[in-house]
Amino acid sequence: MKAAALVEVRNLRKHYPVRGGVFGRQRDTVRAVEDVSFLLHAGETLGLVGESGCGKSTLGRTMMRLEEPTSGDVLFEGRNLASASAAELFTLRRDVQMIFQDPYSSLNPRITIGEAVREPLDIHRLGSAADRRARVDELFEAVGLSPTVQERYPHEFSGGQRQRVGIARGLALRPRVIVADEPVSALDVSVQGQVLNLLVQLQRDLGLTYLFISHDLSVVEYLSDRVAVMYLGRIVEIGKRTSIFAAPAHPYTRALLESVPIADPRKRRDRVPLQGETPSAVHPPSGCAFHPRCPLAVAVCRGEVPALESVRTDGDDGHLTACHRHDEI
Ligand code: ADP
Ligand code: MG
Repeated sequence: MKAAALVEVRNLRKHYPVRGGVFGRQRDTVRAVEDVSFLLHAGETLGLVGESGCGKSTLGRTMMRLEEPTSGDVLFEGRNLASASAAELFTLRRDVQMIFQDPYSSLNPRITIGEAVREPLDIHRLGSAADRRARVDELFEAVGLSPTVQERYPHEFSGGQRQRVGIARGLALRPRVIVADEPVSALDVSVQGQVLNLLVQLQRDLGLTYLFISHDLSVVEYLSDRVAVMYLGRIVEIGKRTSIFAAPAHPYTRALLESVPIADPRKRRDRVPLQGETPSAVHPPSGCAFHPRCPLAVAVCRGEVPALESVRTDGDDGHLTACHRHDEI
């Protein structure tokens, strides 16, 4: 993809100390995000997939600097979120916003949904009181809610409606980039499609760029331009959605795709289900962390961490995989 990168994540790491014992000394380290680099292009949706616990939320939160990075850079139009001062971060937050899985826990039950949507405008002191009221009305309409329900409280709404409030709040400051962490995973399947369609429509109308985090491959396939696959804190494959789904180049991606139920029996593939448990991010396996579960693993896979490299030998189309054996796939 030739479009300019709006966000560049470089060698991002987030390690958490694990404390224990009587004195609460640090005993170990959870390597939740380990050396992650990728670009987010203006106007695209990059889907981030992987099993629960692989570090998707930590990556999103660390990118947003809701967590302090252990190391690495997050460049937004040349400004580094990872090392920004509190004042710089305050300004940067207008451009980069997050939408969460569970709007019920991210919305304060004691403030009305109108106040919840207005709060970012108040914090950033944007416009006059009348401007803010008009902006909140506009935001309610943009997410398909009647501005007349603003005086009500979160518990009076369904999950889908609350997520619309969460989206309106996320859009209040006119961000350019949205990190959406499992935004439909807590919703009934019947409502998921409506909220996904809303996100797609808002992206088109407002020119938004999304990092869309989901463990659900069908959701990611539906709305991503590109897809990144995470395994134990690292991106193991990234590329255009069509390439990833039609020709996955990492054995883990293949196993993930093969674990999705396929209704049409003619399209069923030879199944190689994922073997064993996801190993712990405290003691990740040596070399390629996927090697204990990988049908293709050989000695080098146990010894060396594979680099993300172009899958194609006839020109780089942006499809990268971190596998010593990708030529065998
Ligand atoms: P995902 O969103 O892909 O399910 P997470 O980012 O939530 O994964 O978690 C990645 C790893 O980091 C897990 O092993 C999780 O237990 C660990 N982790 C997440 N947050 C913390 C924290 N605040 N302290 C310690 N470990 C954490
Ligand atoms: Mg998560």
